[in-house]
Amino acid sequence: MMRYQHRSQYAEPLELPCGKAVCVGRNYADHAKELNNPVPTTPLLFIKPNTAMTRLDAPLALPEGRGPCHFETELTVLIGKSLTAASEQQAREAIVGVGLGLDLTLRELQEQLKQQGHPWEIAKAFDHSCPLSAFVPATQIDNLEDTEYQLWVNGELRQLGQTRNMLTPIYRLLAYCSQHFTLLPGDVVLTGTPAGVGVLNSGDRLKFQLADAMTLETEVL
Ligand code: ZN
Repeated sequence: MMRYQHRSQYAEPLELPCGKAVCVGRNYADHAKELNNPVPTTPLLFIKPNTAMTRLDAPLALPEGRGPCHFETELTVLIGKSLTAASEQQAREAIVGVGLGLDLTLRELQEQLKQQGHPWEIAKAFDHSCPLSAFVPATQIDNLEDTEYQLWVNGELRQLGQTRNMLTPIYRLLAYCSQHFTLLPGDVVLTGTPAGVGVLNSGDRLKFQLADAMTLETEVL
C-alpha cells in the first residue's frame, strides 16, 4: 500500500512529515443543530493519527461491517511551524497550505459510544478515516476566514461551508488547539463541518470545490 504523503496542488510531494490531524466537532451551529447536539462554548477537539490519512482524490474505501459511514467536508490547514500556546497571529503565519478533507465518521457507532459516555476514537480515527486533498498555498485564498467550499454527491449540492459562519474562526481555533496539543510541521487541522452530512454509499461520485483555488473529484469504492 502506498504511504500517504502531503502534496501540493501540482501533485508534488511536500517536504513535510505526515503528522496528526486535529479535528474540531460542532464548529458550525447549523451542523450541531442537525444532529441535535448543543452548540459548545469552547471548541470540542479530537485527534486522528496519521494512519487515518489517505488521498481524497483516490477512490475511497469505507470500513465494512461497521455501520453507516458519514461524510463531513472540512476546510483543512497544513501546519508548517511548531505552535505551542500560540497567538492568533503566530497561528496565521504557521499555515503553509489550505485544502479540503473528509472527517469520515461511523455515525451509529459514534452515537452508541456517546450514549455510553465513551471516547469516539473507533468511530472517528480508524484507518483511512481522514482523506485529504492536495494543499494550495495559503496566499492563494483571499481571506481564509471568509471563504467557501462545496461538496456535491452524485451531482447534488450537499454541503456548503462558509468559513465566516464558524463558531471559532480559524486562527483562534489553531491558537486554542496549540494550548492543548503542540502543533508540529506536517500536522493538519480540520476546522469542522457545515450542515448537510450524510451517508456514503458504494459508487457515489463526489465533487469538491475550494473557493476558486481547487476542484477535485473522487468516488466511493
Ligand atoms: Zn468533523
